[in-house]
Amino acid sequence: MNYPVVILKAGKEKSLLQRHLWVFSGAIHSKPDGLQEGDIVQVQSVIGHFLGIGQFYPGSIMVRMLTFEPKSIDHNFWKQKILSAYQLRKQLGFVDNPVTNAYRLIHAEGDSIPGLIADVYANNIVLQIQLKGIVPYIQDIADILCECYPKIESIYVQYAFDERKNGYVYGPKKQDKVIIQENENCFYVDWANGQKTGFFIDQRENRAWISQYCKDKTVLNAFSYNGGFSVYALRAGAKEVHSVDSAKKAIAECDENIKLNFGNTSSHKGIVADCFDYLKSIDNLYDIIILDPPAFAKHIHSLKNASTGYKQINLQAMRRIRKGGILATFSCSQVIDKDLFRKIIFGAAVDANRKIQILHQCTQPADHPINIYHPESEYLKGLILYVE
Ligand code: SAH
Repeated sequence: MNYPVVILKAGKEKSLLQRHLWVFSGAIHSKPDGLQEGDIVQVQSVIGHFLGIGQFYPGSIMVRMLTFEPKSIDHNFWKQKILSAYQLRKQLGFVDNPVTNAYRLIHAEGDSIPGLIADVYANNIVLQIQLKGIVPYIQDIADILCECYPKIESIYVQYAFDERKNGYVYGPKKQDKVIIQENENCFYVDWANGQKTGFFIDQRENRAWISQYCKDKTVLNAFSYNGGFSVYALRAGAKEVHSVDSAKKAIAECDENIKLNFGNTSSHKGIVADCFDYLKSIDNLYDIIILDPPAFAKHIHSLKNASTGYKQINLQAMRRIRKGGILATFSCSQVIDKDLFRKIIFGAAVDANRKIQILHQCTQPADHPINIYHPESEYLKGLILYVE
């Protein structure tokens, strides 16, 4: 274990001693010349205390920590990391679950592996590589996954920084698409052409929460993607469900998912439209409205515009939902925390001037764990509201 040494400024070691995973450029006292993106480095305090081992990146987050122990970053290291994520999913009941076969196996910083996401879809795994430093270890990671999952059919890799490289490291299967099961619902997942790794697994529990209110109701699933919430609502006996998304492809896939579960049904309509416009034209049409937009803010700089966006859509929905309606509203922007989201929704409620109560506060499910030392791993929040 002989890695180049990055030395922190006096006092800047505190966050690492508390196991936070990021070292910002302003905390660095000195580093060797010539470090390349993804290089393994040892981090020390200014008085020479070992703090941990991480990967160097040019930019404002200069080191992402891999471990706080003096260890070599080799096959064994990755094996320990992956096994620990796998054991947790096993303990939670996700592995070989007869009812639900799509779950997140590795949740980047949430599992103390910055830059790596792994989602399981039946007997297939999709890796999303968010940082270049992970690239040299992909084959190791794939080998370890094959040991954990003897029935595995394929491992597909998505490179967040260069989609042209996307492809199989194991397999490949005959097609890039499988049918997965989530509770009693089925969905096509297309990891090569879909959004994210193919499906929004993180909304599993929230779909179930909302569906319990859908019987005999008219439901709007706004920002529907491929219809996760819509399928749950119909299964729960909704009278009518409308799925709205600005992406034509998302609505085509949503229609396919409805057909897969319910055949040809007149209770569902897929609509290609911009939700900001659509929400202005829905006076008194819906008993239940689901708002699950994309992350309006990915960076702290766009916080103000994002807040305005969230407020706008929520205000429109609150104004126009039927009396006694239920509004389920979400944000997956990591930079908008729970408190800020609540304030934005509060602001929309004040402007809508309706009596509104919080029924449930939603978050991400256990297969997307939040690393207590790294609060940034908490990103999904939602409120289920009663609008009198
Ligand atoms: N609720 C979904 C995930 C939504 S992801 C699920 O449970 O799977 C966000 C979706 O919003 C994407 O499909 C994207 O195409 C869509 N979108 C982004 N901006 C939009 C806009 N202005 N109007 C309508 N849809 C939009």
